[in-house]
Amino acid sequence: MSIMSAEENPTEFNFLPNNIRPQKKKAKNFGGRPKSLVWGTHAIQGEKVSEGHYEATCSYCNNFWHKGSPQDLEGHFANDCLKVPMEVKQFFLNRLAEKAEVITNNQQTSHKK
Ligand SMILES: [Zn+2]
Repeated sequence: MSIMSAEENPTEFNFLPNNIRPQKKKAKNFGGRPKSLVWGTHAIQGEKVSEGHYEATCSYCNNFWHKGSPQDLEGHFANDCLKVPMEVKQFFLNRLAEKAEVITNNQQTSHKK
């Protein structure tokens, strides 16, 4: 009545040559680098220019970057953009402040005399 009569022997995988890998290299976008949150919502992502850099347009003031990184855009929203909503500006200011704190903690060398 049971269909579990076929023995599944795990050692059978040892017979596979080493160059046969059970994992495929082609994965979906899972585990890829996370898309920065600036794209789509706050900026329009254009052509990829290089690794991490894209043509970009600010959704608020239409400022255009020929080679913009998410960091550039975050800085723009936090400091430069004149049309960004206050809460968005504040959001990116907070993000920059968090990053700046990490940097200052790593650079506590100004106490020397
Ligand atoms: Zn802008």
